[in-house]
Amino acid sequence: MQVTRDTFNEVMVPNYNPAAMVPVRGEGSRVWDQDGREYIDFAGGIAVNVLGHCHPELVKTLNDQGSKLWHLSNVFTNEPAMRLAKKLTDATFADKVYFANSGAEANEAALKLARRFALDHFGESKDQIISFTKGFHGRTFFTVTVGGQPAYSDGFGPKPGAVEHCEYNNLDALKALMSERTCAVMMEPMQGEGGIIVPDPEFVKGVRELCDKHDALLIFDEVQSGMGRTGELYEYINLGVKPDILTTAKSLGGGFPVGAMLTTDKVSASLKPGTHGSTYGGNPLACAIAEKVFDIVNTPEVLEGVRHKEALFREKLNQINDKYHVFSEIRGKGMLLGCALNEHYKGKARDFMVAANEEGLMCLVAGMDVVRFAPSLIIPDEDIIEGLRRFEKGIAQLVAKSDAA
Ligand SMILES: *Cc1c(COP(=O)(O)O)cnc(C)c1O
Repeated sequence: MQVTRDTFNEVMVPNYNPAAMVPVRGEGSRVWDQDGREYIDFAGGIAVNVLGHCHPELVKTLNDQGSKLWHLSNVFTNEPAMRLAKKLTDATFADKVYFANSGAEANEAALKLARRFALDHFGESKDQIISFTKGFHGRTFFTVTVGGQPAYSDGFGPKPGAVEHCEYNNLDALKALMSERTCAVMMEPMQGEGGIIVPDPEFVKGVRELCDKHDALLIFDEVQSGMGRTGELYEYINLGVKPDILTTAKSLGGGFPVGAMLTTDKVSASLKPGTHGSTYGGNPLACAIAEKVFDIVNTPEVLEGVRHKEALFREKLNQINDKYHVFSEIRGKGMLLGCALNEHYKGKARDFMVAANEEGLMCLVAGMDVVRFAPSLIIPDEDIIEGLRRFEKGIAQLVAKSDAA
């Protein structure tokens, strides 16, 4: 059966507006479309394809586990899930793991756990959840309500209650909101969707202190910042601030859907048998792949490589900006970088993304004002250089058009 981009409009619910080309094959950081045209991939499936496309060791794991055991449900446990949980707890602050299928589901579990923990230890009145404007935590109704963009959560009827929002990086505002009623504070230790916003380390330390003072749990949503993306396994390690609950997904499966919630023995005790669950969560196929991703990412070669590649990106992006004067700032960390557009190009991030795509580069936006790159952590330096050469060509086109207008 022949399908084209037009088929999308015919048969898909119109909640997405995908690019004009249809990718059919990928290898490393290169992708080919239906017409055989090649692209360099700085989008990484939105910070997911942490080892690029079709990494040989992941393909092997997929095939090996795929011919052994795919799925059981949680009526039975399985070896890959237990091994992955052991590795995640050995490498982090956490003692216990809950597996889910996505970031939103890991966050949903975290929020439900925080509410149940507060109920168990402090009673019904401790129900307030505080999160931050521009934050993003997924699209289930609870997580999208906790996320800080009303545009995503409005229009679906009554929202889950006792959720309040605070300005990111504003400790005084948080202090004013918190009380013994506060059950949990949920934050991204680096905001992704909201525009690649790196917090002030003192702010994050202050959030931890306020949570301790008010017996509130601190939840770090590391769905985007986690699993090596910033050059550490998780960004909380860089910040030197331990959360009570951490969620991880995206990079964790390297392209296979999986998510996890990590927490301590004490907090985990509130998820007693029957309190929460998922049919697929922690299935052997997903966990075998995530275990292999973890083994490869959690090595000095890959994590140090991320820092080196960030430096290369920044050097080249600064050169582009010296020539075309389009960015006000290059921000972010590791392989999660944002080119914030200056006053002259504000609101035009999508135009930059489309122009790049036309030159053979896949990239992302984060809001209307930021072009976002979230490539593979092992993208070859040649692909970075060639990708940025294509990006520059796209920018040259846009700038020429804008000067002519
Ligand atoms: C992408 C993202 C989510 C949602 O993950 P899904 O797998 O799409 O449900 C949650 N939190 C953050 C910080 C994200 O970037």
